[in-house]
Amino acid sequence: MDESRIVEVEESHLARVYHRFPICIRRGRGALLYDVKGRRYLDCMGGYGVSLVGHSHPRVVEAIREQCERLIFCHSSLYNDVRAELVERLIKIAPEGLEKVFLSNSGAEAVECAIKLAVKYTGRSEFISMVRGYHGKTLGALSATWNPKYRKAFKSILIPNFKFVPFGRLDRVEEVISNRTAAVIAEPIQGEGGVHIAPEGFLQGLRELCDEHGALLILDEVQTGFGRTGRMWASEHWGVSPDVMCVAKSIAGGLPMGATLARSEIMDSLRVGEHTTTFGGNPLACAAACATIDIIVEERLVERARRLGGFFMELLSNLQDLRIVRDVRGLGLMIGVECRVDIYNVLMGCIKRGMIPLYSGRNVIRLLPPLVIKEDELAEAAQILEDTLREEEQKIG
Ligand SMILES: *Cc1c(COP(=O)(O)O)cnc(C)c1O
Repeated sequence: MDESRIVEVEESHLARVYHRFPICIRRGRGALLYDVKGRRYLDCMGGYGVSLVGHSHPRVVEAIREQCERLIFCHSSLYNDVRAELVERLIKIAPEGLEKVFLSNSGAEAVECAIKLAVKYTGRSEFISMVRGYHGKTLGALSATWNPKYRKAFKSILIPNFKFVPFGRLDRVEEVISNRTAAVIAEPIQGEGGVHIAPEGFLQGLRELCDEHGALLILDEVQTGFGRTGRMWASEHWGVSPDVMCVAKSIAGGLPMGATLARSEIMDSLRVGEHTTTFGGNPLACAAACATIDIIVEERLVERARRLGGFFMELLSNLQDLRIVRDVRGLGLMIGVECRVDIYNVLMGCIKRGMIPLYSGRNVIRLLPPLVIKEDELAEAAQILEDTLREEEQKIG
């Protein structure tokens, strides 16, 4: 199919629920994507954080190919060799105390499980969630998600038991937490909400308040997990261990998978049949996830994210002199450039120059490049962003 036909078919028959960028991608390798005409793009969108080990990493490709020929599907009511191998790897790298896993197929599903776990384990039904927090769009996850744009049309059927407090405000959490609170749910760094990093003391404070009131601390590391921020888990930056942790996005090298990790006694509160999903823990996704975790560990991608994050931030520090730039912030390779203007033109300008960025709200440019990106590719991406922002600043005058 040629480009115009692809666009026509997708526009005619797919639900119109995604902001579309005007590019038509056919293949990818590492941090590079190529469109149907063969044009090369630096991928700083990174599949919204999915493509942590890069596109079509040879070890992920080989793991999928090999597993595909042996066995594609096996329900979790039967034991399976690769599933056991994945669980072993996950527990080995998990935060202290998290020793049980529920495998699913997406970030939202990982959150659904966490919500049900908190209710089942504590016997309580109230939740505290964060302003600008994002946890997915299925009904339970959407109930924990703040953005009114996503909630408004469905408000009548959302779970009303979620109270939203400003991210970073322990005093506000303290006002609403009680012995009716089942859990507090938060991202260590808010991804969709504008790349906001938890202020010092906030996660530690949440941990203490939860312990004091017998509530669970659920950390959503769907976007921040697996080394993205320069630590295996973003919560490590603050030395905090959650009771329940949600992961997904990058876990299986690009195949769909979600996982909810919990302390044993919490996960064991669920009885047979109380929470299941047919495709959860399927061998194909498990094989891809095993390869992905091996790559992260053996290629030392966590350290790489930390080092490249420092390098990238230094390159981007030039941007601070621009009037349209309000702030440049980030940890590891999760970076946000907050502007004083709507960033639509900047995004399009970057794409025209061969770099695909991501947005996070109307005025934050978010960069989530694969951790395998090369130094010269990062330098090129930083230059493209700077040139585009300078041009935009001149246009505005
Ligand atoms: C993307 C994301 C989700 C939702 O994941 P889906 O796979 O899109 O359902 C949940 N939480 C966070 C922090 C995310 O970034």
